[in-house]
Amino acid sequence: MDALYTDDERLLAKTIRDFAEGELAPLAARWDANEEFPWESIEGLKRMDLMGLTIAADVGGAGASYTEMAIVDEEIARVCVTTSTTHLTHISLSASTIDRFGSPEQRQRFLPAMASGEKLGAFGLTEPSSGSDASDMQTTATRKGDSYLLNGSKTFITNGAESDVMVVFTSHDRSAGARGTTAFIVETDAKGLSTVPMHGKMGIRGSGTANVFFEDCEVPVANRLGEEGDGFKIAMAIIDSSRISLATQSVGLAQGAFDAAVRYVQQRETFGKPLKEHQAIQFMLADMATQIDAARLLTRRSAQLKDAGHGHNKESAMAKLYASEAAHFCVDKAVQIHGGYGFFRENPVERFYRDQRITEIYEGTSEIQRMVISRAVLRENAI
Ligand SMILES: Cc1cc2nc3c(=O)[nH]c(=O)nc-3n(C[C@H](O)[C@H](O)[C@H](O)COP(=O)(O)OP(=O)(O)OC[C@H]3O[C@@H](n4cnc5c(N)ncnc54)[C@H](O)[C@@H]3O)c2cc1C
Repeated sequence: MDALYTDDERLLAKTIRDFAEGELAPLAARWDANEEFPWESIEGLKRMDLMGLTIAADVGGAGASYTEMAIVDEEIARVCVTTSTTHLTHISLSASTIDRFGSPEQRQRFLPAMASGEKLGAFGLTEPSSGSDASDMQTTATRKGDSYLLNGSKTFITNGAESDVMVVFTSHDRSAGARGTTAFIVETDAKGLSTVPMHGKMGIRGSGTANVFFEDCEVPVANRLGEEGDGFKIAMAIIDSSRISLATQSVGLAQGAFDAAVRYVQQRETFGKPLKEHQAIQFMLADMATQIDAARLLTRRSAQLKDAGHGHNKESAMAKLYASEAAHFCVDKAVQIHGGYGFFRENPVERFYRDQRITEIYEGTSEIQRMVISRAVLRENAI
C-alpha cells in the first residue's frame, strides 16, 4: 500500500504520525481512565491546522480531500480513538453539514471559527426512541415569526456538552415522516438548550457523549439549513460521507493494535523461542495484516469516489462495515497475542479492544450497513 502513496501523502502520514505519537499517545490512557475530555488534543489539532481539515478554503479551512483526511485520521486513531471520534464528529459531521448545505451567509458566519478550532461542532440526530430508524424523530420545530421553537431531546451526542455549534435535526411536520424533517444550526448557548453528560462508556471514554434537551429553544429562521423538509436528505448525504471517516478510524485502530502485536511477538519468548517463531502466531499476524490492507483499500476507494464527485453510498457502507469488523478481528487477536498482559489496563491493546466496539454501532450499525449494501446490489442487479 505504501508504494501507492504519493510523496506528499507519505510526508503527510509521517507528519501526523509524529504529532500523534508525540502528543496524543502519552495522554490517551489518562483520558480513558478518567473519562476526561481530550482538551489538550484539541489544542494540538488546532496548532497542526487540523480542526478545519476538510472544510473549504474560502471559509478558512484547509480544503483537504477525503483521501487526505483518511491518511490524517488513520494516524490519529492509530494512537487515540477518543481524539479521532472528537475530531471526526467536528469535521465530518458538524462542519461538513454547514459547509455543504449552509447558505453563503451561514458558511461565513459559522465555518471560520470552526475551521480554526475556536468553536467545536456536534451533530444531533439520534433520539432516545430512534437511532437506526432516524426518520422516526420526536423533536419538533414550530415556526413562530422569524424563529422556530425546538422541543424534544437527543441522545448519545458526541461533543454534545463541549460543543459551541450543533447541527440538529427536527420534525416540523410529524405526519410527513422523513419528508417532514428540518435541520438547524443551533448555537449551544441558546436559551432552552441544556446538556447532561453521559458517563460509563465501555470505550472511547474520553470522548464527550451527552443527552441534549430542547425546551422552547428559540432558533432564528436564518439558522435553518436549506428548506423545511430538506433535513432527512441532508442527514443521509452527510452520513454517507462520514462513513468514510469511520472506516478510516477503524483502519487506524486496527493498525495500532497490529503494530503493538508485532512489537510484542519479537520480545516475548515461550517454549525457548520468540513468539514470532510459532506458526500459530505468524498466521494471526498474516490474517490481521491482510484484513487491514483490504479495509484500507476499501476506505481509500470510497474516499477517491467522493473526491471525484461520484456516488459512493454502497462503497462507503462496504468500507465502514468491513473496516469495523476487521478492526474487531484485529483487536481480539492483539489481546490474544499479548496473553495475560493484554488483559491489563496498562497495555494499550486493552484500550483498543474496548474502543473498537463502538465502530460497529455508531453512524449506522453493521446491520444497517448490510441493509444499505444489499439494497444497492439488488437495485444494480434488478431483472
Ligand atoms: C458513543 C456513542 C456516540 C454517538 N455519537 C452520536 C452523535 O454524535 N450523533 C448522533 O446523532 N448519534 C450518535 N450516536 C448514536 C448512534 O449512531 C446510534 O446508537 C446507532 O445509530 C444505533 O442506534 P440505537 O442505539 O438506537 O440502536 P437501535 O436502532 O435501537 O438498534 C438496536 C439493534 O437492532 C438492530 N436493528 C435495528 N433496526 C434493524 C433492522 N431494520 N434490521 C436488522 N437489525 C436492526 C441494530 O443494528 C442494533 O443491533 C452515538 C452512539 C454512541 C454509543
